Amino acid sequence: MAAAERGVLFIVASPSGGGKTTLIRQAMDGLAGRGIESHFSVSHTTRAPRSSETDGVHYHFVDRVAFEAMATRGEFLEWAEYAGNLYGTSRAEVERRLDGGQDVFLDIEVQGANQVKTKVPEVVKIFVYPPSYEVLKERLSSRGQDTDEAIQRRLRWALREFGVGGEFDYAIINDRLDRAVDALVGICVAEHHRTHRLNTRLDAIREAFRSALERDSTP
Ligand code: 5GP
Repeated sequence: MAAAERGVLFIVASPSGGGKTTLIRQAMDGLAGRGIESHFSVSHTTRAPRSSETDGVHYHFVDRVAFEAMATRGEFLEWAEYAGNLYGTSRAEVERRLDGGQDVFLDIEVQGANQVKTKVPEVVKIFVYPPSYEVLKERLSSRGQDTDEAIQRRLRWALREFGVGGEFDYAIINDRLDRAVDALVGICVAEHHRTHRLNTRLDAIREAFRSALERDSTP
């Protein structure tokens, strides 16, 4: 039997509050219904947990010393400082899932996205845009978990992120969640149909076809 194909690595970046966590989770359900197994990577961060967050589920919450030690040991596929906190993606976790044939979703900001591209060139980068300034501000405020100053910092940063997002492979405007989920599922399914990703299976089909043709052609 052919070895399992390696999973596809997807980066879904958006400004904080862009609604990408819900989007990714719903798209993962949609993909599972199509037989595509995926994993949502859990990052490490030095940010304090919000009241709704659980260690090991939303993030691995670590202090700066522990984070910097991991970075020095080269344990991150990428890491970045965002709004005064460090965030990083465990290289081992991502590789293990991809090697096991699962797709992996990284919910990361744009500086990290560029680092991944240099290490995993086949990564697929998707940028999720809020439909407007007002909607993003409202989403950040209604979370009730950041100070006004922190919200202002995140909005200013969002504008810089839009610039980098222009270089991504795909763009999704998150004005209606159901449509955004459809778009994300569609992108992921299409990526699975890139010829180079199907080569192992295509070789088997071609080979079986050739043998069958020879058999039928032999008098
Ligand atoms: P938040 O503090 O709102 O959870 O996340 C702030 C920003 O950090 C978001 O844009 C989120 O996508 C990003 N982020 C989360 N985990 C990582 C990570 O592992 N690496 C990088 N580079 N960014 C991350």
